[in-house]
Amino acid sequence: MVATMQLIDGNEISKQTLAELREKIGRLFAREKIVPSLVVLRVGDDPASVSYVKKKEKTAAEVGIKGTVKVFPPDISREELAREIVALNADAGVNGILVQAPLPPHIDEKSMFNLVRPEKDVDGFSETNLGRLAQDLPSAIAACTPAGIIELLRRSRIETAGKHAVVIGRSLIVGKPISLLLLSKKSNATVTLCHTGTTNLAEISRQADIIVVAVGHAKFLKKEMVKPGAVVIDVGINRIPDATKKSGFRLVGDVDFDEVAPRCSHITPVPGGVGPMTVAMLMRNTFLACCRQNGIAEESLL
Ligand code: NAD
Repeated sequence: MVATMQLIDGNEISKQTLAELREKIGRLFAREKIVPSLVVLRVGDDPASVSYVKKKEKTAAEVGIKGTVKVFPPDISREELAREIVALNADAGVNGILVQAPLPPHIDEKSMFNLVRPEKDVDGFSETNLGRLAQDLPSAIAACTPAGIIELLRRSRIETAGKHAVVIGRSLIVGKPISLLLLSKKSNATVTLCHTGTTNLAEISRQADIIVVAVGHAKFLKKEMVKPGAVVIDVGINRIPDATKKSGFRLVGDVDFDEVAPRCSHITPVPGGVGPMTVAMLMRNTFLACCRQNGIAEESLL
């Protein structure tokens, strides 16, 4: 048991982040008469996507971003969706474009992400933004969930420089970009990226000062995989059956929280950890994109 275990409260940190952002957006309007704008493209009616997009629309309104949702039928052709993206790229009134995943199987997601102009790619999934992240360029727009993890660490005053961070999961959305962010000169961590091909995972994760888990398996990270005093960031969102809930299920992370938490110095809960930061970072990316497109330095709005 680590006596000083602290819960990283993503709800509270996202509230603070959004409150600060709302102020900056207010100043942007007062000074420049500019309202940042975000367009979300949703294809079909995947229930999780419907609820994520609603949350994005609501949060945008709360911080003073003009949010627009464009909904398309599941049988929209690749060409038609591409035309929509190209038109939004050219529309000077649109600062941020987000193509909500998953797309139907007949449309290749990556080719759609790559069509979004990098300056408007507020999801940060395009090859250009990932390349910029790899090159440590300030023009990069970082993917929202990884950016949210960095913000959680920063606001919890957790040092990353010189630490060994082990990331489990190599997805485009989480594992790869969080590895790049932790590797950046600013974070200065030593990073090991583990995945399904890793043979001695527990041995590696036990060496970590910081563990980021994004595998999509309920309660995957067990106590014997964690060094006492480590920081554990749980990205997973998994539904498990729970007869005591009206819905019949509850959400758990990729970490076996009850057995791992007592060993940690810091840990994120699920729900209420990384999740709320993802939407907050989407709003921040839209604001940043708007400032950059208008040649305004963010610091001038502090
Ligand atoms: P993904 O399925 O695209 O990738 C999972 C990765 O985990 C893969 O790279 C795979 O190599 C690795 N993996 C799977 N099983 C493993 C094992 N046994 N050992 C080692 N590595 C293994 O998933 P994703 O999109 O990165 O999402 C991961 C989890 O995070 C999901 O539960 C998802 O719902 C959640 N998620 C949450 C947020 C958020 O905002 N909190 C955002 C994105 C994803």
